[in-house]
Amino acid sequence: MIDFKDLAVSGVQKLKPYIPGKPISELERELGIENIIKLASNENPLGPSPKALQAIQPLLSDLALYPDGNGFELKKALAEKHNVDMDCITLGNGSNDILVLLAEAFLTPQLGAVYSQYSFAVYPIAVQAVGAIHQQIPALPWESDSPLGCDLDAMLKAINDQTRLVFIANPNNPTGAFIQKQALYDFISQVPEHVIMVLDEAYLEYTTEEECVDGSLWLKEFPNLVVSRTFSKAYGLAGLRVGYALSHPDIANVINRIRQPFNVNSLALTAAEAALADTEFLQRARTVNQSGLDLLQDCCDRLGLGYVPSKGNFLLIDFAQDAMPIFDKLLHSGIITRPVANYGLPNCLRISIGTEDEMQRLTKTLEQVCGSL
Ligand SMILES: *Cc1c(COP(=O)(O)O)cnc(C)c1O
Repeated sequence: MIDFKDLAVSGVQKLKPYIPGKPISELERELGIENIIKLASNENPLGPSPKALQAIQPLLSDLALYPDGNGFELKKALAEKHNVDMDCITLGNGSNDILVLLAEAFLTPQLGAVYSQYSFAVYPIAVQAVGAIHQQIPALPWESDSPLGCDLDAMLKAINDQTRLVFIANPNNPTGAFIQKQALYDFISQVPEHVIMVLDEAYLEYTTEEECVDGSLWLKEFPNLVVSRTFSKAYGLAGLRVGYALSHPDIANVINRIRQPFNVNSLALTAAEAALADTEFLQRARTVNQSGLDLLQDCCDRLGLGYVPSKGNFLLIDFAQDAMPIFDKLLHSGIITRPVANYGLPNCLRISIGTEDEMQRLTKTLEQVCGSL
């Protein structure tokens, strides 16, 4: 039989598929255990906003209809929230969609994208899919002011005439590393005009008001800046797939030329709009996350485990040995965490922050597991 992989374009042949967190149903099937908690995909342990759930109920009978391809109502709400014109907004099937569209719109095999080691797995996938040049820059070492963080100076130096995109997630996933406002501002102000600066703010809602670095406030100053946001994390709508980009209208216009006309479904549009208005839910998500994060970081301190201080809803823990046996022990106790060997971090696990009960169970189990090593 013909080898269909050989028929794929060369960039795609070299790709490794994204490895998602293990679904609860799969672990139930494999181990026959119940009471499983999933702390593997940075999902919101509070579920979706109740207002979002309520808002989509009446829409179920309209599922025969196509969604609003322009997402008018959601864009209007977002434009108000961010104080931008509606034509600065591009909606995506999750912000993943936005990242892929940017790569498709701006990259070719002759052009490149700069991103840091240990940054979000979707950047190399999006770049590879269009066969473009990877300009992956080594991250800062563990023993630095910003453990595993972006080496901003090296990233700037790497930008050349062929570079068209820079990807930075702030806070970053899977590390949780965070770039302070002034450092990020200085970086962006040095990115040349011909390079689209993609600032991925998937976890922005988890930072406090004082420490928050909101790149959308710089859009007017930097026409080459694209800020991406998502409803998958703090807003608790990962299953519906909706995110968006804020940018100069001319960039939005370019992305819109290749966007699938109905890339965001009708339930997602309405749920996102309702979630946006539910500030009380967002505040609760933030509070629960902070106490869970404190609990887990304290536990690591007690156990002498290294970690990257996190501004997200997850913690990257360094077990100073192959993390897979620890992953397996947690799994057999019904706790799904995330191995990050595929990111080049075989000694680490990324653990998402759950509810208080879930974090109590996790930290107790971690104490047992690490005590018996
Ligand atoms: C989770 C995540 C996203 C968003 O994913 P969606 O496609 O919006 O669900 C984007 N960037 C980073 C860094 C993430 O961790």
